[in-house]
Amino acid sequence: MDDQRREIAGGGLYAEDGFIVAVGNSEELPSSADEVVDLTGQVVLPGLVNTHHHLYQTLTRAVPGAQDVGLFDWLRTLYPIWARMTAEHVRVSTQVGLAELALSGCTTAFDHLYLYPNDSRFDDEAEAGAEVGIRLVASRGSMSLGESDGGLPPDSVVEAEEAILADCARVVDAFHDPAPGAMTQVVIAPCSPFSVTLDLMREAARLARDKGVRLHTHLAETLDEEQFCLETHGMRPVGLMESVEWVGEDVWYAHGVFIAGDEIARMAETGTGVAHCPSSNMRLASGIAPLRRYLAEGVPVGLGVDGSASNDGSHMLAEARQALLLSRLAAAPSLEGGDLLGARTALELATRGGAAVLGRDDIGALEPGRCADFIAISLDRLEYAGALHDPVAAAVLCAPVGVDRSVVHGRTVVESGALVPLELEPLVARHNQLARTLLNG
Ligand SMILES: [Zn+2]
Repeated sequence: MDDQRREIAGGGLYAEDGFIVAVGNSEELPSSADEVVDLTGQVVLPGLVNTHHHLYQTLTRAVPGAQDVGLFDWLRTLYPIWARMTAEHVRVSTQVGLAELALSGCTTAFDHLYLYPNDSRFDDEAEAGAEVGIRLVASRGSMSLGESDGGLPPDSVVEAEEAILADCARVVDAFHDPAPGAMTQVVIAPCSPFSVTLDLMREAARLARDKGVRLHTHLAETLDEEQFCLETHGMRPVGLMESVEWVGEDVWYAHGVFIAGDEIARMAETGTGVAHCPSSNMRLASGIAPLRRYLAEGVPVGLGVDGSASNDGSHMLAEARQALLLSRLAAAPSLEGGDLLGARTALELATRGGAAVLGRDDIGALEPGRCADFIAISLDRLEYAGALHDPVAAAVLCAPVGVDRSVVHGRTVVESGALVPLELEPLVARHNQLARTLLNG
């Protein structure tokens, strides 16, 4: 995924202090190092980058009343359950979701936590997430427009706007690392047009630019939302965002399904990015995002597993495959027609694309100067039998598997298909207990 998109048979890389120093044929690299890892028979790829997720929702996967409904009813079913979350729910679900991502090849994860009920805080996520060992770009999300003010969420899960902005400033100062190779970064992320006020959007944008951090929100996910924007504000989604200073190279939207007319060109002109979430868009029957138009017009695009209650998984390789498959469905002659998205393009969205959307030039490719974030998959697996003539395409086209090894900033996070920093069994057991109490109230 370097600028030349080199694929090196028998290749290797040499890293020092978490950064790649050399990439090439193994015999051209230094012959000794503190640690030498032999990955013969494996395909090595840049670590995958997830650009939209709600880790806390791993507690509410497959909730019966939310299984077969669209976004707004799904949210109305889940809000009262989420309102019971505590700090421990946030901590444990953060680790479960990040563990699942890590095992599927993700080395940098963005998360959008937008409600902080009871004693939960942003700090719980940032501190628990750091223990998993992959890069975490965590957002201080928010909701301020409750039902009684015309919003969708119940009043019990919204916060006062002054408190939101003050806490955003606090957590950026406390947790955001702007340096190359940063393991923790902070993004300011009001939830969506139907759960915050325009005043909060504008103030959040000004605060983020003052602090030098990025902005993220849900946009144009469903027709319901488009209707909300038109009826409540008299504007289409991107126009609405422009009116509150929410376009630019420091902004990316989740979903962007209902972006129409010249809105894509305006996103491209301003460098505004999008997190494409194909599984979630299918799960909630939201629609098909105009992925090929985004790419053709130069909109930065990354992938998001989004969820985990609208997916209901956190598998990055599966999401790359899903992006390819959904794009090809849209390209069916009976639908839009046109060119088929290639496996390498899908992989590029999951690596370079994600890095661009997160504003990171230190990840997303294996080349000198970037972080030593890479994954390796054994090609002798059952799933790849018969596909070895093109291991790179096989990683996307064949059924998704977990990675055999993952290295983040030079540190091994997955080895022999198992997570190194944390013991999963007690974590999953506690997570299941917490999920049960959350649902039972
Ligand atoms: Zn989302």
